[in-house]
Amino acid sequence: MTGFKCTNAIEPVERQMGVSRQPHKQELVQVAKKIEGLLSELVLLQRDHVAVVCSACDSPCCERVQHLFDEKDMIYAKVFLGRDLPRRKRKGNRGCPFVSANGCRLAPQVRPFACHRYLCSELEAEMTRKDPGLPQILKKKFRAVEALRGQLWREYL
Ligand code: SF4
Ligand code: SF4
Repeated sequence: MTGFKCTNAIEPVERQMGVSRQPHKQELVQVAKKIEGLLSELVLLQRDHVAVVCSACDSPCCERVQHLFDEKDMIYAKVFLGRDLPRRKRKGNRGCPFVSANGCRLAPQVRPFACHRYLCSELEAEMTRKDPGLPQILKKKFRAVEALRGQLWREYL
């Protein structure tokens, strides 16, 4: 198990997901692109620390959670990818349906925002040791993404 946030190479999401974009209102697409840009930054900022900590984790969070997509994740994917993400929820506590032996099967930019935002204590401690300012930088970006998700939600409805 490579661990929770371990990153696949960042490649065009449409190719990884095997979908093509559908037209959406230009304003919505612009907000979704800003979200994607911030998510990509978050992945890069966390990547080295995730590689160290999550690869050695003996109880990966991905194996302890279930389906984490919320409505804002769904709207973002619908605008950005032009398709709905699976809504299926599994019963029982058998882990996220997208976890695999090699880590997360989803492109980083379309993972639930909760996955980007979650910093367990070990991961945050590692970041603080190696780069003391990083947790605050990440939290500021989390707030920026959350604000854009709220904007997308309001403009979509
Ligand atoms: S619990 Fe922490 S260390 Fe373990 S996989 Fe999740 S984020 Fe990584
Ligand atoms: S979508 Fe599932 S497997 Fe992927 S990072 Fe989130 S919890 Fe882990």
